[in-house]
Amino acid sequence: MRLDGHIHVMDPAAAPEATFPQRLSAAGCAGGLVISLPPPGYNHLAQGFGERLENLCSWCAAGSSRYGFLWIDPLDPEVCMQIDAAPAAGVRGFKVICDRFYPYDPRAMAVFRRIAATGYPVLLHSGVLGDGKFSSHYNRPIGFECLIENPKLRFALAHFGWPWCDEYLALLLMFQSKEASDPDAPKMFLDNTAGTPHIYRKEALQRLDGVCRIRERMFFGSDLLAGDYRAKRAAELMARDDDIYRELGWDNTAIDHVYHRNLMAFIEGEK
Ligand SMILES: [Zn+2]
Repeated sequence: MRLDGHIHVMDPAAAPEATFPQRLSAAGCAGGLVISLPPPGYNHLAQGFGERLENLCSWCAAGSSRYGFLWIDPLDPEVCMQIDAAPAAGVRGFKVICDRFYPYDPRAMAVFRRIAATGYPVLLHSGVLGDGKFSSHYNRPIGFECLIENPKLRFALAHFGWPWCDEYLALLLMFQSKEASDPDAPKMFLDNTAGTPHIYRKEALQRLDGVCRIRERMFFGSDLLAGDYRAKRAAELMARDDDIYRELGWDNTAIDHVYHRNLMAFIEGEK
């Protein structure tokens, strides 16, 4: 069973419709991680907490394999209330994009500590942002080193930190070595959603796999939209990655883990 670990809802007018599960299954996916509409402050389509929550839940029917992640803004004065209230509505984790603050901004750090206390995970953008603003510098992988002081946090960094893939690798090494000596260390997961143009992807994967333990920590993501889930595109992305995994000598079990087990370990914690 395959899951897509990075699906966005970006259009508040897109109506959750019956074809979403069908489109996912046409791509070979049983479900995935669905990110809510952006919070106020991110773009002109942003929605308030109540609207985002309600909209997100409508894409992720209870009992389905679709897991809703609420996109929150650490600079929102009500963000702590939102973190505390969202799980009761069925939210399974949180999404943060550092678009106008560094991850080590004290306000963001307080939010990451709050998330760790709930036991829910957080999915983070890393690498160039391309949101039309002067914002990529907030997302250099090394800026997330601050999370090493956040015990028990489960977080995933998306996009391999493109184009700072070596910096991303160094960061992952630091977190993995901390984990080896401290049972309460934060756990870093890799969301392999593209950022890396395809010609760099094999090299990035090869380096990461050669130095770090990624086979048990990386999950697949497409960055496609829930409202217009392009099954053919998702299937193409998976097929391209599968070719790389085989070239790297991965067996079917390792490949299966990238498409299922590792995402569930991120969402639910490792059992
Ligand atoms: Zn994304």
